[in-house]
Amino acid sequence: MESQVEKEILIRYGELTLKGENKKDFIKQLRKNLEFYIKKDEIKMEYDRAFCKYSPSNLEALKYIFGISSYSVVYKTSINLEDIEILIKKIANESNFSSFAINARRHNKNYHMTSSQLNMHFGHYILSNFANKKVDLSNPDLIFYIEIRDKFSYIFTSYIEGLGGLPTSCSGRSLHLISGGIDSPVAANLLQKRGLHITFLNFITPPHTDKKTTDKINDIVSLLTKYQGEATLFQINYTKIMNYIGLVSNQKYKICLMRRSFYRIAQKIAQKYNIKAISNGENLAQVASQTLESIYTIQEVCSLPILRPLLSFDKNETIAIAKKIKTMDISIIKACETCELFAPKFPVTKPNRETARELENELSDLIKLENEILNEIEIIKFKI
Ligand code: ATP
Ligand code: MG
Repeated sequence: MESQVEKEILIRYGELTLKGENKKDFIKQLRKNLEFYIKKDEIKMEYDRAFCKYSPSNLEALKYIFGISSYSVVYKTSINLEDIEILIKKIANESNFSSFAINARRHNKNYHMTSSQLNMHFGHYILSNFANKKVDLSNPDLIFYIEIRDKFSYIFTSYIEGLGGLPTSCSGRSLHLISGGIDSPVAANLLQKRGLHITFLNFITPPHTDKKTTDKINDIVSLLTKYQGEATLFQINYTKIMNYIGLVSNQKYKICLMRRSFYRIAQKIAQKYNIKAISNGENLAQVASQTLESIYTIQEVCSLPILRPLLSFDKNETIAIAKKIKTMDISIIKACETCELFAPKFPVTKPNRETARELENELSDLIKLENEILNEIEIIKFKI
């Protein structure tokens, strides 16, 4: 008998099932994302759920897949009562419990028993086959979930919470400004959760930044790649332009001008690769360059939408997610970050567009240098 027991993973879509017209595309994308981890022929998609072969590695993979509301390790058998009883007995023998409940659902409406008749039947089955067990509907030690569908029935005892959200890559792509800090990795993950595929852009300034800085970025991007299967990182050596902007007459505007330059460059890359949005880890009023006036002055150079998923987050909310997705441990490693090195002591907190433009006019080679740099981008590919 033992060898006939089939174990599978049942995957529930949750939010996806609500999305009408787009549903087919979402489910197709979810399958693609599952296939980064799980063999094609081990996955079966249905209109409201998916099944995949049980293995510890397949189970582990589901921790990284958005668009799943919950999943369960299930035993699969026929819809005959006797076959279901055999599995209930097996689970009961393997579990430590004194109180239990049966939660049976008859999806197959032609089945000869109703859900409540099934509950009664299997409840009695356990009571008469096992000593010292009692029914407790409000707070049982163990719940036997039994789903009877057209051809098969599924028996399981727990729901594992999925990541929720939408399948990564079903909403298009964003070019994400990534640093080694705490915020931008979290922001990237939140956008992945809403279905965006993330392409990463990082500015480095060697020799001020070193291997530690690039190692951090690589580790962060590797971790985030787990949520989308593959990723591209554009890394730009920005030293020459940083030094050039450093010559500006009003030092308070250095960071503001550098950010305008970042977004001009980002926009050109996004347009070249047909990416429709730019994103970052900005948080309103956290630092000088993230006041509303700064955002207004910097935004001017970029016509693509700039997505800021952390705009209204408290720092502790961001940190909680950073810990959950394990980027926190990497972000807190000490390394030299581009902006920290360059920041003046008292940066302007309320810059304006006119002054920024005037100062850029002083730096007559700025746009030329930015265009040159586009030919020197290092493109790094990541795959899980
Ligand atoms: P983070 O923790 O993401 O670094 P932060 O709160 O420290 O954010 P800043 O360092 O001012 O804020 O950066 C604001 C945003 O600018 C970052 O979230 C990131 O999106 C982008 N950014 C900062 N430094 C870089 C860099 N070297 N390369 C690419 N993007 C950067
Ligand atoms: Mg930072």
